Amino acid sequence: MNSQIDSVTLTIHRAANEIGGNCIEIAANGERILLDAGRPLYAPEDDTCSFIPRTLNTELPVAGVLLSHAHQDHYGILNELPASWPVYCGKATESLIRLTSGIFEKTLPQQFRNWESDSPFELGPFRITPFLTDHSAFDAYMLLIEVYGCGILYSGDFRMHGRKSVLVKRLMDSLPPYVDALIMEGTNLGSNKSCCSEEELEERFIDLFKSTSGRVFVSWSAQNIDRTVTLFKACANRAAGRTLVVDLYTAEVMEMLADFGRLPRPSWGHVKVVVTKAFARMYEKTGRGDFLQRMIPHGISARALAENPSKWVVMTRKSLLWDFEHCGVIPSPSDVWSWSMWGGYLKEGDGLVLKDWFESRGCPACHIHTSGHASPSALKEFASSIQPKVLIPVHGVDWDNEPEGFANILRLADGEPCELRQHIAARGGVA
Ligand SMILES: [Zn+2]
Ligand SMILES: [Zn+2]
Repeated sequence: MNSQIDSVTLTIHRAANEIGGNCIEIAANGERILLDAGRPLYAPEDDTCSFIPRTLNTELPVAGVLLSHAHQDHYGILNELPASWPVYCGKATESLIRLTSGIFEKTLPQQFRNWESDSPFELGPFRITPFLTDHSAFDAYMLLIEVYGCGILYSGDFRMHGRKSVLVKRLMDSLPPYVDALIMEGTNLGSNKSCCSEEELEERFIDLFKSTSGRVFVSWSAQNIDRTVTLFKACANRAAGRTLVVDLYTAEVMEMLADFGRLPRPSWGHVKVVVTKAFARMYEKTGRGDFLQRMIPHGISARALAENPSKWVVMTRKSLLWDFEHCGVIPSPSDVWSWSMWGGYLKEGDGLVLKDWFESRGCPACHIHTSGHASPSALKEFASSIQPKVLIPVHGVDWDNEPEGFANILRLADGEPCELRQHIAARGGVA
């Protein structure tokens, strides 16, 4: 076998030393695939500069852009990439990406094709098997790529304490023994973020709902469907007996994802959709007035939230505040607010605005959250069960400070091409 002919080159164009913005290329004899096409997390939402990594050649064809899940830091530069590069992802991931792109009025020029979990498909010399995994994004996957006898597992983003943790454990038990290279995320290295289960959060929310005499305002990501389920179940718990009030965008996400499993939807009991002027205008403006009309039977006015405060668990985001204030929905010391996202987001931007809004009214805080990413110990458990010849770190900032407990780390810099087969051969793998 000629190693010159069978070269497999891996290039991390971005995310070797940062959380998010993943853009990873695998090339084999002139054919290429891209693992994710992410926008850096530091890039402002309204920044129109190009965020294509400098080292990514957009002049040459790509057999497929494989998107692990529908988080911006994994697909956010798609609208800048060539229309001729086909995109592969899960069906729900495509729907979520199209929904968000529609709101921001971004056009996606590429053709999309959907994969099925556990069903391999081929792109040139690459054989790809997606595995549904556990992450705060719905429909997230790990990807096994086999090319010229070399097995590469890309973890995407994952955790082992969410509602789908059994999928990760199943993969650890059943993966074939030829994973030569593991490209793994390390978001939570160097942090002590909470990694408790969604079931534990559910209990904590039930306690909070029972012990609060007023409204409970909660801020969470509409696309974090695990969290929506947790809040819905806590509301529907007989002892808590509250109604979850979501905004139109969250209702749209729920309505869409309900087609993919038994998930709460706007027409269910214990759910109401708050129809505010600003959101209604935005839906009309972006041509989605029909969805707005469909939600009217499940809708509630913001003004109604000013009455019967012990009944409501109210989704809160900055874009709702103006309407809330004008309808008399003002937080008070008998209400509680809960930030159910990463605490770092409270230091600036929308998070800081919300924090000030509640604090200035003397509304107490009770933050209940668990990370969408694996804990450091879960990362070590996963890597040692896969036993790769090389472990290639991505999507983390503390890999260099916390390498203990990980075997065979191969550290790459952004844009540095690596002849993967040579590294694997040096460690007794494929030659
Ligand atoms: Zn990510
Ligand atoms: Zn993610």
